[in-house]
Formats: sequence, structure tokens, C-alpha cells
Amino acid sequence: MKDFKDRPLGTGIYNPQSQITVRRFSRHKEELSLEFFVRRLRRASRRREGMAGLDPELCRVVWSESDGLPGVVIDRYGPHFVLQTLTLAMDMRRELIAAAIVEVFGAESVTERNESPIRIAEGLELRTGMLHGEAPAPFRVSSDAGTFLIDTTGGQKTGIYLDQLDNYRDAGSRASGKRVLDCFCNQGGFAIACALGGATEVTAVDVSESALAAAKANAEAAGVADRITFVCANVFDYLKEQEAAGAAWDYIILDPPSFTRNRKSVGDALRGYKEIHLRALKMLPAGGLLSTYCCSHHVSTGDFREIILEATVDAKKTLCQLATHTQRVDHPVLPALPESEYLRGYTYELMAAF
Ligand code: SAH
Repeated sequence: MKDFKDRPLGTGIYNPQSQITVRRFSRHKEELSLEFFVRRLRRASRRREGMAGLDPELCRVVWSESDGLPGVVIDRYGPHFVLQTLTLAMDMRRELIAAAIVEVFGAESVTERNESPIRIAEGLELRTGMLHGEAPAPFRVSSDAGTFLIDTTGGQKTGIYLDQLDNYRDAGSRASGKRVLDCFCNQGGFAIACALGGATEVTAVDVSESALAAAKANAEAAGVADRITFVCANVFDYLKEQEAAGAAWDYIILDPPSFTRNRKSVGDALRGYKEIHLRALKMLPAGGLLSTYCCSHHVSTGDFREIILEATVDAKKTLCQLATHTQRVDHPVLPALPESEYLRGYTYELMAAF
């Protein structure tokens, strides 16, 4: 790559079919060789070993541009690794990347989970399979946020939401003695952490049967299945019904999917965010807690805060901010790449009326 004065800019990957035609991955001249991938993986691994509180064996070991490998995402669950290659150049080299994972980490298995719809925008087909070793039978991993059943080759997701692990623990620390409602619970991370944290009862809602089956298995593995009620429902309908029935919760967690994959539908997404906040606020008593997360990089922090504020105005409630949350440190943020800071969250206490 060169600039307009013909000065070298470094090396990039190129895909004329993508909206992002060129992605620079080095300021130097580089070949995408095994040696290069080994070097990048070693560097990513060393960074994570130095991250306080992070278990380097249960984390995202490579996160795309943040680790100098645009489109490469590698999650580690002990000896098992899950690889996504979301850019054309990296996809073409996935065997090489798998070989580097084996060399650097001694991986027992490397599963390819290339099902992200982002690949379609890059002109890539969706694909899953083994790149190294045998497909592992479902196995358990433990973290300070709970125990999770990992199924790298089945399930609806590549594993668990590693970016939320710290936030599960945070929620668990606030849940003692509370009636908790976990909306969009997926595999139960928040619900289980709250049950372990001493919640008197937890209700966890998700629209996906398979996510709920995984959540139940995780709750059983954590020994808290008897304290969590799992509900298969659309959260929008569920909140409406609960509100109409006069339900109240001491702690509500909202961690929805991104609601939008492109800038065009941000307006609809914002209306969705507002609706769930409004309904949640109406069901919280004074002193009740709300933890809310937004994982869409198309929705700005300002928009997200504005929506929460609008909901409090409409609900005639006052919130006090107790904490801010973000993605775990194994998803490093690059200030030069604002999209890399995609997960924002807040915990609020609903104040008694003045
Ligand atoms: N809180 C989860 C992550 C949520 S991912 C965690 O930390 O693990 C989003 C989840 O929302 C998915 O499991 C998806 O099945 C679910 N979902 C999407 N739309 C929904 C809706 N309208 N009602 C209920 N669940 C929904």
C-alpha cells in the first residue's frame, strides 16, 4: 500500500467485493505466511497473559484488527479453539491460521465456525467444520462467573459470550436477596451468576428453544437449576404481559441482540431499545436495579444514553447511575477504530420519588 505521494503505508488485505476494500494489518511489508501468523498469535497471547483477572485459557485469544489480524477471531476454551475468518484474505488462509494455533497453543482441536452473516457482505459462503483434531464432545469450562457447557461443533453459537463474563460476575454481586429478571438470557450467563450470588428467585427469558436448553444445562452444571425459571417467549410480549399483570422485580437485566446490522435500521432498533427500557422501569420499585447493555456498534453511546433517558422521562422515574460496563479486556478497543468499542452497559438504581 502507498499514499498519494507514493510513500509506503504498509501491507493490507484487499477485497473488491467488500464495503471495506482494503484493511491495513501492518505498517511494514509482510507476507501472510505461517511465520507471520505464529508471530501475531504469540503477541496476542503475551498481551492476554498480562491482562489482570483474565484466564488466558478461557478467552478470546485473537480479536481481529485489535490483534493485527483483520477478520480473524479465535476463542479459546482450554485445549479447544474456535476460529472465524470474516475477511476474504484470512478465509483463504484458514488452514495456515489453524496450523499457527496448533504451533503456538498446542491446540487439541480447532473448529471452524464461519456462520456469521457478516461473511455474506464479504462475498464468502457460510461454512463450519474441523480444521484440526476431532470434533470434541460437549465439555464444561469453569470461570468465576459460573460453569458452562461448551459445544464447539453444535449449538447456536461458537460458545459463550466471553465479552460478558466480567459483567455476569458484576450482576451476581448485586443480586443477593433479590427477585431477578434476565431478559434475552441466551445461555443463562446473567441468570446463573445471579442465582449463585444469592438471588431469591430468577426468571430468564429468551425466544430461542436451543439457547434455553443450553441455559438449563448450564444452570444444572452450576447447581442452581431449581432457582431459575426459564421462559421461552418474545421479551417484548413478555414484558408487556408482566406489566399488565402488575408484576414487580428487584433487579432487571436487559442484554438484547444488536437489533440492527446496518445503519439504515438504527431508528427501529432505537424504538425497540426504548420500549424494553420503558416497560422494565415501570416494573421496578424504588431501590430496584436495572443493568442494561447495548452491543450494536451502529448505536452510539450517546444514542443509547438518550434512549434510556427518554424512557425514564416517559415512565416518570429517576435513575441513579451506579456503574458503567464494557466488553472484557480480551476484546481490546482501538481508539483509531471506534467500532471496536461495541459493548456498553450501565447499572442504575431507581430512586424513590423526590
Ligand atoms: N445475555 C446473553 C446474550 C444475549 S444474546 C448473554 O450474556 O449470554 C441475544 C439473545 O436474545 C439470543 O439468545 C436470542 O435468542 C435472544 N432474542 C433475540 N430476540 C429476542 C426477543 N425478541 N425475545 C426474546 N429473546 C430474543
